[in-house]
Amino acid sequence: MNPYDFVPVNWDRSPIRKPASPHDRFSGVSGKIEGVITAETPVFIFNSPKRMSGAEPFITNQQGQHIIPGSSLKGLFRSLVETVGNGCFLFYDGVYEDEDGNKNIDYTNELPKDFGKCETINLCIACRMFGAMHSSDMLSLGHVSFNDAVEVNICEHEAIYTIALMGPKPRHDAFYLDPEQWIAGRKFYFHQPTGIKRSHTKTKTRYNEHITPINTGSQFAFSLQFTNLETLELKTLLYALDLEQDMRHKIGYGKPAGLGSVHFDIKRLTLIDYANRYVTNQGVTEYKGEALADYLSGQTRIFTDNTTSPTLKALRRIWRWDPSDTTAYHYPDRDWFDKNPDTSISETQ
Ligand SMILES: [Zn+2]
Repeated sequence: MNPYDFVPVNWDRSPIRKPASPHDRFSGVSGKIEGVITAETPVFIFNSPKRMSGAEPFITNQQGQHIIPGSSLKGLFRSLVETVGNGCFLFYDGVYEDEDGNKNIDYTNELPKDFGKCETINLCIACRMFGAMHSSDMLSLGHVSFNDAVEVNICEHEAIYTIALMGPKPRHDAFYLDPEQWIAGRKFYFHQPTGIKRSHTKTKTRYNEHITPINTGSQFAFSLQFTNLETLELKTLLYALDLEQDMRHKIGYGKPAGLGSVHFDIKRLTLIDYANRYVTNQGVTEYKGEALADYLSGQTRIFTDNTTSPTLKALRRIWRWDPSDTTAYHYPDRDWFDKNPDTSISETQ
């Protein structure tokens, strides 16, 4: 089975756009979320710059602690909010390489116009929450900021050579375009709980990496701040973080090889009512334990109770976490593509 699938978009429902809430006065909800990220498979994130020889180490901060950079977390949650909140396609440029490495495949017109990157101050939910630029203009600074998640406990893993991580290029239209010939959606990778794939030849090529991941069981403390979020924005952020009981996130390098499955566990949520705070010295509400669980399930219900959205159904299916799942994932080989030019991704499963 192919290691990824697409989460479809309802093309009949364009992103709802409006100006972001202001930064110069308090409105909406502000606060802080803290919790723990646990690796459920080995995970790897590159340090930069890359080394020229030997295994690449996992990224560390100036104190030498392993971290998951705030920028990686922001990227993950921006794309999830785009997906579940029906935002724009920020990173879509529609131009792909063909088999010879030339940028000859143009799907620019295969994304409905309304779903392109926001370009005015009327912004989709993801651009309002995470910020948006157009050319050199700052359209919104964003209202959510992630700190680097810092190691709490690191389980070591030996250095490995990954398998070749080149997927099929989009020459195979039946994979990348839906029957209406729009793009098939956003790409998400399946979890591979029973083991990562490594190269047996123990050599570094153009297509793989020699890396030292951290092992299953490693933990990081994460935190993020938000200001002036509207109710729906907060609900969407909380769902993106909490997901559902039998779902996990994927982060970092080597997703097709089975790396990067992590569990986000929210431990504390602090809501701050700034308007109230200055008058009465109150207005701070803290949720932990059972009260937090109740609050989260109430806030995320608009997503968890939705059993009909094709987008949510696909995300649940692809990011389902079942520790005993032994499905073998691999890219179909070239020969298969040559023989099955019209077969879509769902028919390969
Ligand atoms: Zn947008």
